[in-house]
Amino acid sequence: MSPAPGASSPAAWALVTGASRGVGRATALALAARGLSVGLLGRPSVALTEATAAVAALGGRALAIACDVSDAADVDRARGQALEALGPPQVLVNNAGVVHRGTRVEDTDVASWDHVLGVNLRGPFLVARAFLPAMRAAGRGRLVHVASISATIGCPGAASYAASKWGLVGLAKSLAEELRGSGLASIALLPGSIDTEMLVGSGFAPAMTAEDVAQTIVHLALDAPDAMNGAAVEMFG
Ligand code: NAP
Repeated sequence: MSPAPGASSPAAWALVTGASRGVGRATALALAARGLSVGLLGRPSVALTEATAAVAALGGRALAIACDVSDAADVDRARGQALEALGPPQVLVNNAGVVHRGTRVEDTDVASWDHVLGVNLRGPFLVARAFLPAMRAAGRGRLVHVASISATIGCPGAASYAASKWGLVGLAKSLAEELRGSGLASIALLPGSIDTEMLVGSGFAPAMTAEDVAQTIVHLALDAPDAMNGAAVEMFG
């Protein structure tokens, strides 16, 4: 595989999904601090606009890309907008996620299940599928998928979340095999409890900050050896 992308590449840019807050926002800032331009992909909101301004304030280019990752037409539109503005991304961070807690499987309604699987598993599939042809043509790049430590255990009351994250690791590892020899790599990150909005109401104490996770994503995206392709990296705090 060719060298990992880095700040030395003048046109390097990173696509980060769910970049309005939490891990995604911290990752967008950390990648910008390394000299990359950043596409902040998420549903339109004041928070997304503010995060984009914060990234731009670091000096690089920052582009807000309005998109619901679970919506195939939206993702297609986002791909067109991003490729036209910035070309193929050197880094793609599949980070957007949701959790629904508090219902046992037999009490979970189908819409709730579909929403969680739609954002956490269909979303990363759609986004990877949209950008991979351009990334393959460029011949280099990294995909980092933010799964969860929930992808190693069962989660009573949040089976949809656990199932989506186990599925995401399966997607990440399958992609890694498909990408072997292409110059691209696919790596899953499985964090424990992070101090973000998502953790509120979970009953778990935060074990790490969004910045800790962002720093790890940047390492996997820019600094880790190509031999990490296919890895599922756990971090516990
Ligand atoms: P967060 O603060 O709730 O942020 C979630 C992000 O995903 C927001 O930017 C949200 O933006 C975005 N998002 C949700 N639905 C979306 C959709 N349909 N399309 C596009 N973007 C969407 O949570 P976080 O903790 O930073 O989570 C980031 C990732 O880390 C997730 O994949 C999560 O599963 C994972 N994770 C979190 C923890 C934890 O303890 N917090 C632990 C392990 C793994 P909008 O709602 O504004 O659209």
